[in-house]
Amino acid sequence: MKTIITGDRPTGRMHLGHYFGSIQNRVKMQYDYDTYILIADVQALTDNFDNPDKVRKSVHELALDYLASGIDPKHSHIYIQSLIPEVAELTVYFSNLVTVSRLYRNPTTKHEANQKADKFGESGESITYGFLGYPVSQAADIIALDGDIVPVGEDQVPHIEQTREIARKFNSIYGETLKEPEAVLSETPRIKGLDGNEKMGKSLGNAIYLADSEEEITKKVMSAVTDPSKIKKDDPANPDICMVYYYHKLLKNSNLDTVCSECKAGSRGCVACKKELIKVMTEFLGPLQERRKYYEEHPEEVEQILKEGTMAARIRAQEVMKRVRKSMKLDYFEE
Ligand code: SF4
Repeated sequence: MKTIITGDRPTGRMHLGHYFGSIQNRVKMQYDYDTYILIADVQALTDNFDNPDKVRKSVHELALDYLASGIDPKHSHIYIQSLIPEVAELTVYFSNLVTVSRLYRNPTTKHEANQKADKFGESGESITYGFLGYPVSQAADIIALDGDIVPVGEDQVPHIEQTREIARKFNSIYGETLKEPEAVLSETPRIKGLDGNEKMGKSLGNAIYLADSEEEITKKVMSAVTDPSKIKKDDPANPDICMVYYYHKLLKNSNLDTVCSECKAGSRGCVACKKELIKVMTEFLGPLQERRKYYEEHPEEVEQILKEGTMAARIRAQEVMKRVRKSMKLDYFEE
């Protein structure tokens, strides 16, 4: 069975963009692959080093969201990055194999650095070593567990390319030791926000969280962007430019054809259409929220799942690091 390494930074609750963008895919793949899901708390600290409470709380929230979404601990190992010291060790060894200019050339890092500069008015000089180096630690996350496959969105492809480069460089210097992981592009496009933004995101304020109550969902859906040309209830409209219709489609409303034809014919009002979407959305999230509630009421089970997942990941990383130390002539006192 091939091994998949995937995961997220714990920086808050998961939303529908995460669900359709990656989690749903992981739920499907977990039955066919040896699946390791990383809660990247160390990486979350690169941006939140001054807010450890947020990261700590989000680790638990993220685990709840995974389990609620159908990540099955019998088929997936959910593990905590900071509890795998071998990854930190490998990051140090890898840091000699990557030049600073190569890190600056990584388009995703460059883009994120520019975003930081726009947001905080920072110059490149205030970018931290940890931020610049996080693709190196990400490479260590994947390689330390002998990962074969990494499912990614388009923006993560440069990181996996860099990971492969690091593995190749290591092997060329120290001998064939490490696996070169493969990026598998997620087929799901980026999920748009109800406000019409091309992306759903926490920072964009347009996220529908998996744990949102019906009241919260109602508030968000009622303010969704529709076809602006539809002023009166019986005006015909174009569903293809309406975010409400986009979500009817995304959530596979069985009444989709009727929504489309009634919208085009002007026999459907936007308020009724939004109310129908609220119903579809709460029904979709219902089973997830039930599972979440179960795990919220059984925190000891969540802790046990994380402990077992972390132990499984650590055993794997220890095996890989034995090979790494041997190749690097660092296997002092080992038989
Ligand atoms: Fe959108 Fe529905 Fe209004 Fe048509 S009727 S514009 S699909 S909300």
